[in-house]
Amino acid sequence: MLRSIISTAARRQFAASAPKTLRAAAFSTTSAARDQPSLHTLSEDEQMMKDTVARFAREEMDESEQMDPAVIKGLFETGLMGVETPAELGGAEASFLSAILVIEELAKIDPSVSVLCDVHNTLVNTVFRTFASDHLKTKYLPQLAEEKLGCFCLSEAGSGSDAFALQTRAELKGDHYVLNGSKMWITNSGEADVFLVFATVDPSLGYKGITCFVVDRDMGVKIAKKEKKLGIRSSSTCQLAFDDVVVPKENVLGEVGKGYKIAIEILNEGRIGIAAQMVGLAQGAFDHAMPYLFQRKQFNSFIGDFQAMQHQYAQIAVDIEAARLLTYNAARLKEEGKPFVKEAAMAKLYASQVAERASSKAVEWLGGVGFTREFPVEKFYRDCKIGAIYEGTSNIQLQTIAKFLRKEYSE
Ligand SMILES: Cc1cc2nc3c(=O)[nH]c(=O)nc-3n(C[C@H](O)[C@H](O)[C@H](O)COP(=O)(O)OP(=O)(O)OC[C@H]3O[C@@H](n4cnc5c(N)ncnc54)[C@H](O)[C@@H]3O)c2cc1C
Repeated sequence: MLRSIISTAARRQFAASAPKTLRAAAFSTTSAARDQPSLHTLSEDEQMMKDTVARFAREEMDESEQMDPAVIKGLFETGLMGVETPAELGGAEASFLSAILVIEELAKIDPSVSVLCDVHNTLVNTVFRTFASDHLKTKYLPQLAEEKLGCFCLSEAGSGSDAFALQTRAELKGDHYVLNGSKMWITNSGEADVFLVFATVDPSLGYKGITCFVVDRDMGVKIAKKEKKLGIRSSSTCQLAFDDVVVPKENVLGEVGKGYKIAIEILNEGRIGIAAQMVGLAQGAFDHAMPYLFQRKQFNSFIGDFQAMQHQYAQIAVDIEAARLLTYNAARLKEEGKPFVKEAAMAKLYASQVAERASSKAVEWLGGVGFTREFPVEKFYRDCKIGAIYEGTSNIQLQTIAKFLRKEYSE
């Protein structure tokens, strides 16, 4: 069942049973992708499987606020945890847009599973691929593609939007660093084995002291508290404690004092992943609600045939498509090596707004039943709110967009 959950979500990206080289080809967004059926077409079987999976996500994982370990295993087995990782290091060696499509597809079913996959691929794997030494790449990327979940530990109680006010300390003692401090809000940390931890080697240096460390769970990372949340409840979000955690010097990822650069660059592109999660969520809510409009009758008419309803769902369909295009465009710009930071901020901001509108409307369109936990739309409605908060709040996205606009129009 769980293999099917994941492979259904990814069916249009690749064949789960294919050898890695073929998977890589199936992931390609060039010629292979053009031969695939349109992303809007689902067979009857696929639709049924999607509904079953949505029910499983809601009834088993959301209610218990636990990610089923078999889901994580399924993601690894189907190659979804190393989408861009080179084939010789165990990955699918596919494009960034492929990762974005996977995140979107998973979010149509369960935004919690989607963010697990998103953080692992677009943050953790990308940090290793882009900034790590050959030694760290060879050691960690295969594990991260095959079996070990990663997490990205930047935020702290006192440093959220102002991320570089972080306080976690790393002191050099001979051939190792000793980490002390705490982190907050860390996605995947309940199940992760590999922690990318941002800490300062010298608070007097400000952001220039921030350094990225690779920390294995068994080096002594402690889960201080698991948060109980409004939405994406089966995605673990924990507070972490580092008490004299000894990390070998060779586990510094990139250069000492250059952690801020890693964090900025990765979050700039990571935002496109969150945009994709929000597009998938919006589409998932829409797809669940729409059939009901042509089953339910009031005043002897299908409710979907009232003009007031037609205008609403037509508008939401346009909004979702616009959010998707912003997201894919930002992904393509990044792949082409062109400036993409403003476009990524626009995509994340807009997609999170559309996810809120779409899931809210989906609840309303179902009337009373939309408000119950019998149907998945209330879960999408709860899950969407995080899109305006993590990887930069909506205010921070607007600030980024405004900064670029000012530069464009004042030079
Ligand atoms: C479920 C969840 C998962 C997360 N996962 C991770 C993770 O994996 N790794 C990680 O490192 N972090 C993670 N985070 C942290 C997340 O990135 C932060 O919560 C987010 O950046 C906001 O920081 P904050 O919560 O401290 O809010 P604050 O920064 O305190 O913001 C509070 C409010 O003030 C506004 N504000 C702040 N500064 C400004 C400004 N300059 N101008 C205008 N308005 C401003 C914000 O927009 C917001 O509305 C996660 C958070 C949640 C809730």
